[in-house]
Amino acid sequence: MNNLPELPFDKLKAILDSLPGGVYVFQNDNVLFFNKVFCDLVGFPEEEVRNNNLDDLLDLTPNGRANARKIYQQVQAGELEEFKWDNPVVRPDGKKVVLRGNVRRFQCADGFGVMITLQDITRRRNAENEAAEQARLFRLIGENSSDFIYVHDRKNRLSYVSPAVKNIAGYAPEEWGQAVPQWVVEGPLMDHAREATDLAVRTGEKQPAYTVEIKRKDGSSGWLEVNETPYLKDGEVSGIIGVARDITDRINHEEKLQALNEKLEIRNRALTHANQEMEAFIYTVSHDLKAPLVTLHGMTDRLILKSADKLDDKGKHYLERISVNVSRLEDLVLDLLKLSRIGRIEDAHENFEIAEILRESIDESGETISRFALEIVADQEIGLTHYSRKRLRQVFTNLIINAAKYSDPQRKALLTVAATEETERWHIEMRDNGRGIDPKFHEKIFQAFQRPGSYKTDEGTGIGLAVVKRIIEFNHGEVWVSSEPGIGSVFNFTIPKAIN
Ligand code: ADP
Repeated sequence: MNNLPELPFDKLKAILDSLPGGVYVFQNDNVLFFNKVFCDLVGFPEEEVRNNNLDDLLDLTPNGRANARKIYQQVQAGELEEFKWDNPVVRPDGKKVVLRGNVRRFQCADGFGVMITLQDITRRRNAENEAAEQARLFRLIGENSSDFIYVHDRKNRLSYVSPAVKNIAGYAPEEWGQAVPQWVVEGPLMDHAREATDLAVRTGEKQPAYTVEIKRKDGSSGWLEVNETPYLKDGEVSGIIGVARDITDRINHEEKLQALNEKLEIRNRALTHANQEMEAFIYTVSHDLKAPLVTLHGMTDRLILKSADKLDDKGKHYLERISVNVSRLEDLVLDLLKLSRIGRIEDAHENFEIAEILRESIDESGETISRFALEIVADQEIGLTHYSRKRLRQVFTNLIINAAKYSDPQRKALLTVAATEETERWHIEMRDNGRGIDPKFHEKIFQAFQRPGSYKTDEGTGIGLAVVKRIIEFNHGEVWVSSEPGIGSVFNFTIPKAIN
């Protein structure tokens, strides 16, 4: 600098005028020079800058003015080489800005003056404030979250751990130590966790949450679910923000639930097994009873036919009672056999028209229908199902016979059969105008041998509806009744639609 030619003041002025920053030069109380940018920065027109005091232009407080004066004197005298300040300033138009001033000694034509260079740092200051505010918020979130939050860089160097770690692991944040704290249990889970973190750092993509096991300071075990998000700086992964949640209760709960489920499953299997044994037993018993009963029936009939007149009236009466009860026993055994056969034997399933089977069932029940003078109005257009013909016929027949048997002698018996097509199944509705069923028996009548609403004179063994329920449920359908005593009953059931 020293060997450069000294510039005349007017040349220097021209240079200072073209600077992007504000410049203001004074000596004692005399303003020697200021540029246009300075006027813009303080917000005063040139005229006023010339005629006003610098302290007024910079909106200084009384205290600030006293300090400034002292500093200007020291700088001008060469006692202070340089002085810097950042000052909030309210401009005459009310706008608030932050100005950064730099005060230096300035050599003038006659002695030394002071030069202030000025910069508008409002934006920079706002950005700094915003960053500080965000950091404050981040800390606030960290400090108030029940999950604990941590931040580490690409090389696992930790820069933040929130205090909740103390509640969760028993260790304070400063006890964290190295990258992976010593209280995280090593093993396959931790290996997987490391892989996930590496991948997140390498790809910048958030990985699915992982679980790790921890050993707390008090020796107890716990589980954490960890969500890690890579954070970027200038487009590159700078590190990881992790949120760890204590899921010990959930894991314990799940373990308990699983143990309970396993127990339940074992019990279920035992129950199914017992059921199967029971059914096999019923089947064998009813099957084995059938033959001697048929013989007994035959022998009683022959006895009545051939030898009844050899007996006196009492003997005849006993023989008749034996015959009635043998028949009844035979019916019971045959029904029991029917019931135990459902599901034991795989029924052949095929596609067929429901209306066709309904007609066959009506034919099959002809005798009972005419005995009770039952009129049947049936939908003739019920479409295709995939079912066992034999079983569906059994369902219809049992329900038709019941509609006849339990009709009301006071009025003409009527049964209406209708079908509704649903997405995957048919809903069949069989509505009679019979004697109806007390709502308290609506469930019970579907159990074997339950005949709560029947009279002594009604024929039957109480197995018909149990057979219906069993067939329908074996084929994943539903069956239910709605009924009003004295008005009639509606038996509903569902069966699957045909499959292509
Ligand atoms: P059963 O007809 O041999 O008694 P079910 O299992 O078919 O056996 O019927 C059980 C009971 O349900 C019957 O005893 C009767 O009380 C009642 N019930 C069944 N169907 C009807 C109906 N359509 N109307 C009134 N009651 C009925």
